[in-house]
Amino acid sequence: ILEVKKLNKSFGSTHILKDIDLSLEKGDTMAIIGPSGSGKSTLLRCINCLERAEKGTIILNGITIAEEKENGMEYLKDDELRMARLHLGMVFQNFNLFPHLTVLENLTLAPMNVDKKSQTEAEKTARELLAKVGLSDKSDSYPCELSGGQSQRVAIARALAMDPDILCFDEPTSALDPELTGEVLQVIKELAAEHMTMLIVTHEMGFAKEVASQVVFMDDGRITGRGTPEELLVNPKEERIRAFLNKLL
Ligand code: ATP
Ligand code: MG
Repeated sequence: ILEVKKLNKSFGSTHILKDIDLSLEKGDTMAIIGPSGSGKSTLLRCINCLERAEKGTIILNGITIAEEKENGMEYLKDDELRMARLHLGMVFQNFNLFPHLTVLENLTLAPMNVDKKSQTEAEKTARELLAKVGLSDKSDSYPCELSGGQSQRVAIARALAMDPDILCFDEPTSALDPELTGEVLQVIKELAAEHMTMLIVTHEMGFAKEVASQVVFMDDGRITGRGTPEELLVNPKEERIRAFLNKLL
């Protein structure tokens, strides 16, 4: 469903992503782990086209979003790209909810404006999704009235409201107090059990072990290890990965 080939990205003269290859099948949950600064967020942002890469190929749902041509990287035109990107849902560390809208309005905005759904239909889906993340009673609250864990669950519901083919998470729990991370991870676990296709950058190794079908380890802009959670997190062959995991304990 997603294929990334030889992706390279620099900021100025700093080469950040180096020949990243990865592929995700429908129903996969891929965890991306690795030290701070290794390029995990940049990779997600490139896959989402929030950042543009300089080299490589990105194919989403059989649609080539970006590919390398003789005179550089060629992306789809703006409106086609916008359409293609709708297949990707994104959940950030800091929730990024619209502060001036209620929870329900946060969930119905894009379905109504972008998907052209009726308000009735959008609200029906929104209420179903709020029930799914355990927040049926918060539909009329404003983001400032929610805890971090609740905010993140709303952000997940909002991403799901657009019915994405792939849901991407960038450290969804790292801004949360430890007692609130569990409720967010639980929601993601349930999505994995329903075979939602997901790409998750996380430092929660226990969680990665439990939900991921594949794990990739990034180090200094490269993928230097990949495998099942068992292979990569329980008994990694690579010394570098062992050292990384030990530091987290
Ligand atoms: P963390 O675990 O701390 O979130 P990360 O693996 O997500 O780290 P990135 O945020 O992708 O790492 O950053 C990789 C490198 O790219 C870092 O050295 C960072 O300073 C650099 N970088 C990221 N965004 C930009 C930017 N907009 N301009 C310049 N450099 C950037
Ligand atoms: Mg990051």
